Amino acid sequence: MPRCLVCATAIEPFIDFGRMPIANRFLAPEELADEFFYNLAVARCPGCELVQLVELVAPEQMFHERYAYFSSTSRRMSEHFAGFAAALLAELPPAPAPFVVELGSNDGIMLQHLRSGGARVLGVEPSANVAAVARERGLDTRVAFFDLALAEQLRAEYGPADAVVGANVVCHVAALDELFEGARRLLGPQGVFVFEDPYLPEIIARTAFDQFYEEHVVYFRAESVAGLARRHGLELVELHPQAVHGGSMRYTLAPRGARSASPRVAQTIARERELGLHTAAPYAALGERVGQLAKRLRETLEQLRDEGKRVQGYGATAKSSTMINYAKLTPALIESICDTTPAKQGRLSPGAHIRVVPHEAFVADYPDVALLFAWNHADEIFAKERGFEAAGGRWLTYLPEFRLDPPHMR
Ligand SMILES: [Zn+2]
Repeated sequence: MPRCLVCATAIEPFIDFGRMPIANRFLAPEELADEFFYNLAVARCPGCELVQLVELVAPEQMFHERYAYFSSTSRRMSEHFAGFAAALLAELPPAPAPFVVELGSNDGIMLQHLRSGGARVLGVEPSANVAAVARERGLDTRVAFFDLALAEQLRAEYGPADAVVGANVVCHVAALDELFEGARRLLGPQGVFVFEDPYLPEIIARTAFDQFYEEHVVYFRAESVAGLARRHGLELVELHPQAVHGGSMRYTLAPRGARSASPRVAQTIARERELGLHTAAPYAALGERVGQLAKRLRETLEQLRDEGKRVQGYGATAKSSTMINYAKLTPALIESICDTTPAKQGRLSPGAHIRVVPHEAFVADYPDVALLFAWNHADEIFAKERGFEAAGGRWLTYLPEFRLDPPHMR
């Protein structure tokens, strides 16, 4: 019987996607033979309310020198990080320069904004290739996984942090007790631990099951974060909903007693309970809807194939892997996926082995239908691809709603 990562209560999956590849591992043709697979299933812990993957993949399989995600590639995310940095700095005393440590600092996009806002910054990033980009920008970055030993070492070397921050990184971590304990020990007495991650109630409301893949080990809501904080002498004191990644939440934690909690914390937990998220029913219903969505997408693609239409994927996102492999989509249904990330181009998508081509290939020879995998950037993409509309192209989306129509209908 699998057990909860945090409290060791027995857990049972509410959704099982079956055998899945590593979502962010785009393969060179010679790598196909030793592709790694695991079983993707998601469970809710009835003990501490943490929603989590049942089978974990070793971090070294996911975050390595060939990690293909660079934060700076999306303009919208860049703007988002600028806002995150400004909001954080507004909360910290301006002098002396606040010391901010970012966990999972990727290519340094957030650190840059913090530095230009006057902070002293340090990044911790396990993927050497993205960390190297940050270092080229002159941003002090440790290539390491954040754990208790590193937290102690950093505190001894740099002094206590005014803030420890993380964007889309805490949900990647199975060793949550170590991370929360490390964050608390690194913080000064007035420091804050601020992180944002996809918000579970939004995932459920939007059926955004493509958030489920091996990198996202846990799926937070306010009640589960408040519980984790309590285990480590911290308190959840503020919440700020975010529009990115299809609906995220920014959580602010402080050492217990250091700050008073905003009324929003109790209100949000009460709202989560009104939705029944502390019971099994909404999770079982999510599993049902996901099965129906995958079936509908596959049937639509089969119909387009039978009509002789060319379908190209748009955006070789990690999260598209769950839909592609669960719905058993193949190169016979999707001829290729275009993407602007050079590290993915010329490679094959995980599991289904659909070719990734440069964005230029999409523009040079528009397909009849573009299947939007980067659905959380839909507005930015529809605005950018007016030429596709002029050429008579149709977009196929499966989230946030299932549609097949020309862009001007949107
Ligand atoms: Zn638990």
